[in-house]
Amino acid sequence: DRVVDSAADDLERAAEAALRPRRLADFVGQPVVRDQLSLVLDAANARNTPPDHVLLSGPPGLGKTTLAMIIAAEVDGALRMTSGPAIQHAGDLAAILSSLQERDVLFIDEIHRLARPAEEMLYLAMEDYRVDVVVGKGPGATSIPLSLPPFTVVGATTRAGLLPAPLRDRFGFTGHLEFYSPAELEQVLRRSAGLLGVELRGDAAAELASRSRGTPRIANRLLRRVQDFAQVRGTGVLDLAAAHGALDVFEVDRLGLDRLDRAVLQALCQRFGGGPVGLTTLAVTVGEEPETVETVAEPFLVREGLIVRTPRGRMATPAAYDHLGLRPPSEGMLF
Ligand code: ADP
Repeated sequence: DRVVDSAADDLERAAEAALRPRRLADFVGQPVVRDQLSLVLDAANARNTPPDHVLLSGPPGLGKTTLAMIIAAEVDGALRMTSGPAIQHAGDLAAILSSLQERDVLFIDEIHRLARPAEEMLYLAMEDYRVDVVVGKGPGATSIPLSLPPFTVVGATTRAGLLPAPLRDRFGFTGHLEFYSPAELEQVLRRSAGLLGVELRGDAAAELASRSRGTPRIANRLLRRVQDFAQVRGTGVLDLAAAHGALDVFEVDRLGLDRLDRAVLQALCQRFGGGPVGLTTLAVTVGEEPETVETVAEPFLVREGLIVRTPRGRMATPAAYDHLGLRPPSEGMLF
């Protein structure tokens, strides 16, 4: 529902598929991760072995799934996709693991949400290429060790810190994805406009880039809304007027904040006098899950210097009051 929500649902995933870069060379931005990954992949290809397991961390919409697909394409392997919450039982994971072929890339999204037994099975598979398949139930159950062909796990998480150390240690390489700069987002937007076959003016691209919260998924989504606006209420060209029109309709503000972000800020500043306030209390006040507030809204608000996390809870900064057009409480009372 949120035009600047950085998470995607299934419908959106379908719309996104067309805009995904397929090769590392087409992946915009993230110079550090791209360089590190290219080294890991080139070395693996030169040795003709599957690359080491890769962990990708960062907020939603920054390109973790895209990179997993690129890794599979670069090593000429098939991509298998699953997620932590989709694996209910260790048996589900055993079934996936035992069907892997040599060079397959197994992408596990939200890997921090794997249940403990599945997590333990994964350690063994990643380290020894082995899985113990349990046959039968109760006292008669037997465990049959099965060896697996060499494969690569690509794990994605919005919170690398939540991953248990033993699991984290099994990844040979961890890439931290950062928010994109406006210039990088303009590049993403121009590329997407080209793929969609629409004319995007330079000033409109710059405006959208600065309102996309550093996130390619949001940039692409805003682009589609501007395309709608230009077609229905504009001239068909994605110009600055169409960009402003669409941004107004979808209530995206100057910083790219939407309703949820502003609700969080407003609650902090007005209900809780600037904080500190705990995450759960804050989430309940704005009617969202704590995880949504923490992974979707908060990282960007922190990066923009609108809120700070302290051991006692979240606090609003003077910039938050300023952004909402409110008067901050007298100095000294903050922090
Ligand atoms: P995540 O898995 O981190 O939530 P995705 O990989 O699904 O994010 O990316 C979301 C969308 O953003 C995709 O449609 C993709 O086309 C686009 N995207 C992400 N990163 C880039 C990038 N570096 N260059 C171009 N497009 C990107």
